[in-house]
Parts: sequence; structure tokens; C-alpha cells
Amino acid sequence: MADFYDLLGVSRSASADEIKKAYRKRARELHPDANPDDPTAEAQFKDLARAYQVLSDDSQRSRYDQFGEAGVGGGTGGGGPSAEDMFGGGLGDIFETFFGGSGGGSPFGGGRQRGPSGPPRGQDVEVIVDVDFVQAVFGDQIDVELKLPVRCDTCDGSGAGENTQPVRCSECDGSGQVQRVRQSLLGQMVTASPCQRCGGLGEVIASPCASCRGEGRVTEDVTYKVDIPAGVDTGSTLRLTRRGAAGPRRGAKGDLYVHLRVRPDETYTRDGDDLVTEVPISIAQAALGTSMELETLDGTEDLVIPPGTQPGREFVLKQRGVHRLQGRGRGDLIARVRVDVPTKLSDDEVDMLSAYAAGRGESVGNGKEGLFSRIKSAFN
Ligand code: ZN
Repeated sequence: MADFYDLLGVSRSASADEIKKAYRKRARELHPDANPDDPTAEAQFKDLARAYQVLSDDSQRSRYDQFGEAGVGGGTGGGGPSAEDMFGGGLGDIFETFFGGSGGGSPFGGGRQRGPSGPPRGQDVEVIVDVDFVQAVFGDQIDVELKLPVRCDTCDGSGAGENTQPVRCSECDGSGQVQRVRQSLLGQMVTASPCQRCGGLGEVIASPCASCRGEGRVTEDVTYKVDIPAGVDTGSTLRLTRRGAAGPRRGAKGDLYVHLRVRPDETYTRDGDDLVTEVPISIAQAALGTSMELETLDGTEDLVIPPGTQPGREFVLKQRGVHRLQGRGRGDLIARVRVDVPTKLSDDEVDMLSAYAAGRGESVGNGKEGLFSRIKSAFN
């Protein structure tokens, strides 16, 4: 990996603030979402994030200044935690933590509370939830039920059996990491790897909790109240931080991703923030015009169909559509006219329509002889 300072484009004497600013700027440019066509963007972004992770931490930065990447558990030294491990979650996490503004001092604070040697963060959990059409248009609060690991009550997440405590691991002295120093051609190399004895947790449990078998978490049914913002659609995803799986032994919780599916409606279809509904009228109403009451999601509205209205004509009712998820106001309701041609006519109606056609010199039916009787029989 290139020099961390070069990656961030700052000098070796840059202040913490300058490093932070430089990181944010580069991260925005390099985020894979902003570079969908550049397959290297994600790798570059990860390198950048790794560089920032090290340089934004005073002690890691000074180790890096002294020993290079080997001093911070990566690169040529080997054995160190991978970038993925360091970051706890995926790329999305990093991005969200920075730009979603969940706060906290360290940009990676959301992911791990005790650094790489602490207990691992719980998994992110994904659920698919179906919501009604109207809920999606106006927003609502719903119950989301799911099964997921939660902190064990019996041991309060420690994993230790009744009246016992976890004890500091003697192998790593509680750090969770074993460091080795060796000489190489390039000088002294320090490598760190997770402690084998405690699995990197820094603590060992002599007699495990009976409820969770030492894991510090148990799987339970959980119900969350989730606010559905107005304007969501199928494919919308809500991210609920710290509502995912509890980590083992008091590890931080993962996040919950709620993927929404909106049930279709019989009356309305969506076109972005607009709603489209069909208005069936007869040929007489289309020709002569009419007025009617149109059902909208906000109640009935008067709709005037002028004479000579063609099939497919659209009437726009402003602000009667879907609330905009981002931004103010609502889309429109589009009432699209459908002209229904009758499929059943009485004898009188056939006579009247035939007379109408004859008056306009229009040819109707499919032959000359016995024309009207054949038309009548077709409708009987
Ligand atoms: Zn327990």
C-alpha cells in the first residue's frame, strides 16, 4: 500500500483536523457509489479508509511514523487483522458513520468499542417488511418482529456463570493481542495477532453462564417500532443503527436494515411521486362530457370531463400524490380517462347508434344485407 500520508494528500506534519478534512474530501471523491464504473474505486476507498484509520489515531500514527505499515499490523508484517476486521462491518458502515452523521469521536467508533482486541461487533441484520400502499404514501409506524441475538440477562452479557467473573487472559495480559518483534533487513518489525487463548477477547471464562453458554447473548423474539417515512417505495431500505444482533460478550450491536416492499393497490399505481388512476367513462360521457366525484386518497374530488374527451386524456390533481421522501410537498394524482365501449346493447340502442352512424355516413356492421338484424343478434 502506498504511503498513508500520500493517500490522504497531506504532509507528515499535518494536524488531526487537516487529516480529517483531507479524508472526507477524498472519501467523497472515491466512494464506490460515486464511481460505479470504476472497479478500482472500492479498493482505493478501502486503502484510503485504512490510512485514515491509522493516521487519525495518535498512538497508531506514531507507530506508523516509526515502523511504517508493519507497525500498525498490516502490510508486509502479515498476521495483523485485515482491513475488513479492523472496520468491523462492510464499506457501507464506514460511509454511513461518516456522512450519515451518527456522531461519536472516532469515525470507526460505531463499529468497535474496544478497538481490534475487544469483543466483536454483532452482525448487521436484514429483514424484508411488507407495508400497505397507503402506509407508503403517508408514512406510518409499524411493528417489525424478528429473531435476533440480544444480550443475555442472566450474566448481563459477560458470559460468566453465576457469581463468577471473566478473568483477564494471562497469555495476552488482557490486550487480546500477542505482539512479536523480529529483525528484518528493513529493521525491526512488530507484528500483532489475536491471542489464541482468549480468541482476542482479552478475557477468559472459567465457568460459563448456563443461559448463553458463555456467549453473553441469546436469541430472542424482538419487536421494534419502526417509523416508515412517507414516500417510501418497494426497494427503500431503512437503516436502524444498533438494532441488529448483539455482539458476543457485550460486543456492540450491529445495525438493522429494513427492506421495504409496498403492496400494490387496486386503484392506484405509482409513477415516482405521482399516482395514476384510471377513470372509466362511457362513449356518451366522452362525447358529451360529464362531471363526477373522483375518489382520491384524501377523499373525493370533483372532476369535470369536458365534451369530446379522448381516451387516455389525463387530468392532473396537484398535490394529491405521494409525499416526497426527500424534499417537501407531494406528487400529483393523474386521472387517466378510459372510454368503455359497451359490449351489450338493447335493440333500441342498436337502432339509435345505427341511426347515428347513418346520419354521419359511417359504415357500420360487416355486410350490407340484413345489417341491423345481424348487429342485434351479435349483442343478444
Ligand atoms: Zn449469559
